[in-house]
Amino acid sequence: MSTRPCSFCKDNAVYTREYEGVSFCGKCFRDAIEEKVRRTILRHEMLTYNDHIAVAVSGGKDSLTLLNILSKLEHRYPRSRITAISVDEGIEGYRDEALHLAAKDCKRLGLEHVVVSYRDLFGTTTDEIAKTGLGKTPCSYCGVFRRKAINKAATRIGATKIATAHNLDDETQTILLNLLHGDALRIARVKPVLDERHPKLIQRVKPLCEVPEKEIAFYAFQNRIKFQSIPCPYASTALRNDIRLILNRIEEKHPGTKFTFFKSVEKIKPALEKMADETKLRECKFCGEPTVGDVCKTCQILQALDVV
Ligand code: SF4
Ligand code: ZN
Ligand code: ZN
Repeated sequence: MSTRPCSFCKDNAVYTREYEGVSFCGKCFRDAIEEKVRRTILRHEMLTYNDHIAVAVSGGKDSLTLLNILSKLEHRYPRSRITAISVDEGIEGYRDEALHLAAKDCKRLGLEHVVVSYRDLFGTTTDEIAKTGLGKTPCSYCGVFRRKAINKAATRIGATKIATAHNLDDETQTILLNLLHGDALRIARVKPVLDERHPKLIQRVKPLCEVPEKEIAFYAFQNRIKFQSIPCPYASTALRNDIRLILNRIEEKHPGTKFTFFKSVEKIKPALEKMADETKLRECKFCGEPTVGDVCKTCQILQALDVV
């Protein structure tokens, strides 16, 4: 804990933002984070006054923080609406607690909570696929299924936007991950507001994309938001985990590096977008969902498992 005074009201500071050299008391910190999210939403024109926002809520600190902040901001727009969507991937000993915490917070905030499961949607679970040894890591198919599950659930409830809790750390990790996977042009798609590529894909927005993970954790702590803290048992197998460690080490030694990296990539993105060949999406011949080829990734995975 810092012993410096708050840079804004001279109360005792509880948090210092090293990259800006400013300190915050609890209240000023909460206000600053909410204001930052509000500005991000405005700058990128993420939401309109009458949106039905489907918030993807895993039950972790990021998604519950997003839900709390959006629900505060949304009070100013009586014609908008929020529904929380959670996905049960079928990971034993991990997802149950998170779903319980998500349900509790939705109740407290007076929000509708919809839960969809891989079992119901795809007839299998992440645990079951992991046992087959399919794919490089469970995340490689689990992530594909999640995107589809959230889009399906959001479509069902008539949502007009999907808000996800990707933070500054997630975004910088994804950029590096794409580079290390040899997929440089995919960086063009790491955006605060994703392109509307097909009428069946609800537009996704990322209101926390400029907030570092550390500040989200502190916001959750300050607001006594109860979130699941144990990591997914499969998370350590992902390359993303190593990238997270490297970026955190650099940030610790050189505060502000993640921001600089994120902003630098923002500058070159228009050029990357011109180079990237955005193939027009078609509809999967099995499930009818948007895809670049004949068969979507989900159906390819389910075919490999003999589920379809
Ligand atoms: Fe799925 Fe990987 Fe996330 Fe676990 S860490 S829930 S396996 S995407
Ligand atoms: Zn203050
Ligand atoms: Zn399909």
